[in-house]
Amino acid sequence: MKRLTQEEAKELFKLSLYELGERADSLRKELHPEGIVTFIIDRNINYTNICINRCKFCAFWRSPEHPEAYVLDIDEILKKVEETVRHGGTQILIQGGLHPELDIDFYIRTLRTIKANFNINIHGFSPPEIWYLAGKHDLTIRETVLILKEAGLDSIPGGGAEVLSDRVRETISPRKIRSSQWIRVMEEAHRIGMKTTATMMFGTVESQDDIIEHLDRIRSLQDRTGGFTAFIPWTYQPGNTELGGRKAGAVQYLKVLAVSRLYLDNIKNIQASWVTQGMEIAQLALRFGANDFGSTMLEENVVSSTGHRVAVEAPERLIERVVNSIKAAGFIPCQRDTYYNILRQW
Ligand code: SF4
Repeated sequence: MKRLTQEEAKELFKLSLYELGERADSLRKELHPEGIVTFIIDRNINYTNICINRCKFCAFWRSPEHPEAYVLDIDEILKKVEETVRHGGTQILIQGGLHPELDIDFYIRTLRTIKANFNINIHGFSPPEIWYLAGKHDLTIRETVLILKEAGLDSIPGGGAEVLSDRVRETISPRKIRSSQWIRVMEEAHRIGMKTTATMMFGTVESQDDIIEHLDRIRSLQDRTGGFTAFIPWTYQPGNTELGGRKAGAVQYLKVLAVSRLYLDNIKNIQASWVTQGMEIAQLALRFGANDFGSTMLEENVVSSTGHRVAVEAPERLIERVVNSIKAAGFIPCQRDTYYNILRQW
């Protein structure tokens, strides 16, 4: 397929939902002809909700004095990792707020202790956390990533991207790192051989042009490094946030997902977000370009802090629901690892 220009991508939004879906689905089929839809068994561990950034779209952060403010101690973290491993999990996604008192030793200790006790992939610390740590200790980004890698960090999640347009960031998260800084962290990680994901949280104040700008920045970095394993778009959840507003609907979600599939011709995997969209729309997403169902999310705190209901179920039941949803959508469910290697067919 010929590479899309930004102008052509903007034109895609004018297509009917049906036509756009068909185009994205045919590229998905070309890239994944075997009809497999993957998922990973993992858990989110949010080590603290104390954060100095106070993003307006975020319902998760608390000030240090707030009665709900917390920092998990290492025993609590290890217990969560143990539960994940017990249920067949191969990854933990560990990330948190920018805590003014935690220094890099906390991160090193946490990584080393997890690795000393469990054989599990640590997918952790999104670019805002890494940038913050680097600044705090007067380290370069490269030095910071290398220190974390040496302590046990395996890969980096694409959190904190929201929309990579500084016009949008100025409105929704003025204290957060800028687009070029997010890209810089990812580029440094890729250059030392670390894989990362790319994300996009949309549905706040961005325009279609901002979405295309975001996709273009991701595609350009992938051209330079090849370090992204997947792209994961999801919609803003306005509950309990300072920014407020309305949720983007399913049609907008599916259109953005399909445009992402078509524009990001150099990223093999596109994830559906059942956590924000629900299982039915996530099933539909598999016909709009997605080939991965994301995580079983044995624990989730960030989206649920907006009041959006995320199913609280026993891990076995949650895994079964993901597997059955993929089958019902007409695909073969396969458990994968962080790097998209197939571990088990269900
Ligand atoms: S989105 Fe992240 S950086 Fe922003 S306030 Fe929430 S926890 Fe902090």
